[in-house]
Amino acid sequence: MAPPNITLVSFCRFENDFLERIANDVSNEFNMPVKAKEGYIDLSDYYDPVRRQYNANELLKEVDLKYSFDSFKTIGIFNVDLFVPILTYIFGQAHLNGRSGIVSLYRLSNERYGMDPDEDILFERTVKEVIHELGHTLGLIHCHTTTCVMRSSTYVEDLDQKNANLCSKCKGEQGFITQ
Ligand SMILES: [Zn+2]
Ligand SMILES: [Zn+2]
Repeated sequence: MAPPNITLVSFCRFENDFLERIANDVSNEFNMPVKAKEGYIDLSDYYDPVRRQYNANELLKEVDLKYSFDSFKTIGIFNVDLFVPILTYIFGQAHLNGRSGIVSLYRLSNERYGMDPDEDILFERTVKEVIHELGHTLGLIHCHTTTCVMRSSTYVEDLDQKNANLCSKCKGEQGFITQ
């Protein structure tokens, strides 16, 4: 049987090797092969004209249905403003122990907050968000350790305060055995 693997599916354009670098960091964190590929979803089907945002629950369903079949875990990466009905916006979403998750860069860039672009900061925030959602798919709930990547983040400042790694407790609780 093939060893567990992770697939990152991009639904937006990336500069240079951005996606490959994310895949590399994710692979190191989970000790699993990670491949990156491109996907296509007609996003207009997921746009809510009243909220002027995109429906995260429905997008996650679509990624799960169409893109998660050949991997242990799959993360769809978008660059649109995601919402779920009970929240103003979200950075990403995944079901606990599910096969898939989604992440959006939309609110992760400095430009969104009137600051100068910084690709390193955007990269760090994206890696943390991808690892966080993968953590949920591996059965991890939110962690209270300040620096743990599984700590919940409402604002980008919260993302900046934590590391891109699971704390030792979360590492021990992943729903599978790693070496
Ligand atoms: Zn979370
Ligand atoms: Zn933790």
